[in-house]
Amino acid sequence: MSARSIRAVIFDLDGVLTDTAELHFAAWKRLADEEGLAFTREDNERLRGVSRRQSLEFLLRGRAVSEEQAEALMARKNEYYRQMIQRLTPNDLLPGAARLLTELRRAGIRVAIASASRNARDVIERLGIASLVDALTDGDSVTRARPAPDLFLHAAKQLGVPPEQCVVVDDAAAGVQAARAAGMRVVGLGPTARVGSADLVFASLESVHLNDIVKRDA
Ligand code: MG
Repeated sequence: MSARSIRAVIFDLDGVLTDTAELHFAAWKRLADEEGLAFTREDNERLRGVSRRQSLEFLLRGRAVSEEQAEALMARKNEYYRQMIQRLTPNDLLPGAARLLTELRRAGIRVAIASASRNARDVIERLGIASLVDALTDGDSVTRARPAPDLFLHAAKQLGVPPEQCVVVDDAAAGVQAARAAGMRVVGLGPTARVGSADLVFASLESVHLNDIVKRDA
């Protein structure tokens, strides 16, 4: 990475440390089936890192609902999702995640998780990584979702590290954009078609090591 000292790493949660996208899919799919709405696994890719309300809007595809109905639909999906996350264990961490978090902790690098999910705290506790994380910024912490920089700026503030000394790790195009808007370096995980504009791109955390993301001044 660039010749600049990095003091903090801010991780996205879904798609980076764990694959809750599969559980979000199952929960939305159940709701969609009950409501007679078409929703495929491919559609679910569009919901990566997207807020609960925007996800519902996508699902409804213009079908008009009152605010009360929208809230009831979101609450029902969340209920299904919350049932599903009860089953999460440390085995649901993606390959490389626990190792990298431990490497960062040993090196004295500050770590935050920035997730759009209001269920992020529960997920982190079930994954058994709460003690490896210094700060959590979630969907309740800010109002503007990615690609706005707010979530990452909030995380940096909580850590007390200036944006230029933070690296973001995200799997969504909107996350890469948000990190840039925050003035942070960014590591993209996934296909280049999705995260190709990141400073560094890896298929998954499995091939990412401390020195790849935290290079000291040259
Ligand atoms: Mg994500």
